[in-house]
Amino acid sequence: MSRIIFDRWLQALGKLDYVQGKSRPDVDCIFCSIKENDEKVVDLKIYKDDICFVLLNLYPFNPGHLMCVPNRHITKYTELTKNELLHLNRTIQGLQLLLDDVYNPKGYNIGINQGNYGGASIDHLHIHVVPRFKAELGFIDIIGNIRVLPEGLDSVKKKLTQNVDKFLNKEFFENFK
Ligand SMILES: [Zn+2]
Repeated sequence: MSRIIFDRWLQALGKLDYVQGKSRPDVDCIFCSIKENDEKVVDLKIYKDDICFVLLNLYPFNPGHLMCVPNRHITKYTELTKNELLHLNRTIQGLQLLLDDVYNPKGYNIGINQGNYGGASIDHLHIHVVPRFKAELGFIDIIGNIRVLPEGLDSVKKKLTQNVDKFLNKEFFENFK
């Protein structure tokens, strides 16, 4: 049962990426452009450091649907260095603490769509962090891209940006077992 739900979730994310691709701005890489603050792209970043950045998904599965992206333009999970691998995963732990604090979700989906056949429309490697809530609409609403989210992106961005430093800070990255 849970396997079916996970597969359907991956399909849903693929569809979202496809929808996002339709209105794609004319840049080589959307994530590199966002990283470099290019005005052609919508800036939904909530966090940035020397190794990675975090942004809201423009077409979120749920409020607080985040993506963690390595600064380096790489396309495969196997290309991550030891340092990047550790840092990205620690960042995701911090994002869960942030989302727990702000939205108190009841669960999470964390995952990667890699390559065209994996459902990725943006080549630049990224990890989805999707908070899950008790009462959600069905997948059909998401696939049809007609889902009405209970909170707008600007509001979500503001809340998360205001709180992210409490969780993703120097001490958090340096002091853990
Ligand atoms: Zn890139």
